[in-house]
Amino acid sequence: MSDAQVHLAYLLAAALFILGLKGLTHPRSAVRGNAVGALGMLLAVVVTLVEQGLLRAELIALGLALGAAIGAVLALRIRMTAMPQLVGLFNGFGGAASVLVAGAVFIVATQAAGVTQAAGVTQAAATAVSAQETIATAASGLIGSVTFFGSIVAFGKLQGLVTEKPLRYRGEQVVKLVVLAAALAAAAMIIREPLETGRYWALAAAAGLLGVLLVIPIGGADMPIVIALLNSYSGLAAAATGFVLSNTVLIVAGSLVGASGIILTQIMCKAMNRSLANVLFGGVGAAVETVEQDDLYAGKVKQTSAEEVAMLLKTARRVAFVPGYGMAVARAQTAVRLLTEALERDGVTVEFGIHPVAGRMPGHMNVLLAEERISYEKLRELDAINPAFPQTDLVIVLGANDVVNPRARESSGNPIAGMPILDVDKARTVVVIKRSLSPGFAGIANPLFAADNTLMLFGDGKAAMEGLVEAYKEA
Ligand code: NDP
Repeated sequence: MSDAQVHLAYLLAAALFILGLKGLTHPRSAVRGNAVGALGMLLAVVVTLVEQGLLRAELIALGLALGAAIGAVLALRIRMTAMPQLVGLFNGFGGAASVLVAGAVFIVATQAAGVTQAAGVTQAAATAVSAQETIATAASGLIGSVTFFGSIVAFGKLQGLVTEKPLRYRGEQVVKLVVLAAALAAAAMIIREPLETGRYWALAAAAGLLGVLLVIPIGGADMPIVIALLNSYSGLAAAATGFVLSNTVLIVAGSLVGASGIILTQIMCKAMNRSLANVLFGGVGAAVETVEQDDLYAGKVKQTSAEEVAMLLKTARRVAFVPGYGMAVARAQTAVRLLTEALERDGVTVEFGIHPVAGRMPGHMNVLLAEERISYEKLRELDAINPAFPQTDLVIVLGANDVVNPRARESSGNPIAGMPILDVDKARTVVVIKRSLSPGFAGIANPLFAADNTLMLFGDGKAAMEGLVEAYKEA
């Protein structure tokens, strides 16, 4: 393959990545977008193998079969609720790959330069490891290692292998600054004296420690932001490795991941009312719970039954569902569709309030409702549905907790303070379906459950919704 053909194929792959991302911006085109992006990646991988003289059909077929098998097993077996940690793990692997590939290329290049230098050809030695290579290698080692170790800690937290709680200690910021300074010093030394390969691993070790230190003080509801940020870092590390390898398609793909990750981070920061600086310096998720659950609920929680809620639905003209993590765990979305259809047959207006961080991954609720073919036009974001709650007769909060917790309106003192929420408490009646009064992801009590206009329908989300569908039919 000529250079021109390789670059043309890379350009085509880059165009497919961008078209793929464009497709992912809307649920209707998301599946196609995913396929287009994957096609771009297949093209990039095959062309790179051909360019490197590795065009052995059996090797490519073996790689494709192995990758497809692992991908298919993961996709089929992973629970939707475990997606964030899987994404976290993928980010980590991306970071590790960047560290190892950039490191390997760098070692080979420095060894070649060393041999030339030993032979007394100093000019050649100086140019054998170019400035582009050393700077890109240092960047790749630094960012890639932060990403890998940070992602492993994030995975451990979300998977419950290590404590989910933020781990704070005295002098935390100073410790992080010292480790950052050590990593930057190692990077500077690599750039100044590229023939010392041991420094690369020192850089990777210091950056790895930094990754761990950056993620351990974060916890609770702030974890999704960290995952999105690490996703962006993995892209930046890949782009830096692209410069090490002088591979344009890796630079483009890495930059796209870096940019889209940072955009997602910002969207999530906005949804949770956190500043990016707050996230970068690990100052999030540290608030301490002050309100006692027993004081909040004692004597104020009103329990209801499916029959009572069915009666309320019979007189309602406007109903909203607010789904959350519990709907996903219980797999209650089919029953939600059945009740929606029954209500609409009776002329009731049905809407869905979708919080950007409801569930355990961005877009979690949208995916589950789209699988049930619930029309996308019925799904409303915060700004669209909040003004409508005062005119809504009944809101059914299904397995959602933090995203409807009025304590987010407090300015500080709890982990969700300042997070925009769905103002369901402004509706005429609120029915909350969940198994108990247990807190949600952020670990704090919810005054909504004790509000005058709230009724609690205790039970597993699916069973409770199915009971409600039956009771509505019979009412
Ligand atoms: P929450 O985690 O706040 O609450 C979920 C509620 O669901 C729990 O209180 C639980 O109560 C209930 N529940 C669990 N299982 C069932 C079941 N089988 N049937 C019925 N109810 C059930 O969820 P939200 O969606 O309101 O908020 C999401 C939280 O997760 C936010 O804090 C967000 O920041 C965080 N997060 C979001 C991510 C994202 O990207 N979307 C990623 C990671 C975290 P009970 O046990 O009493 O049934």
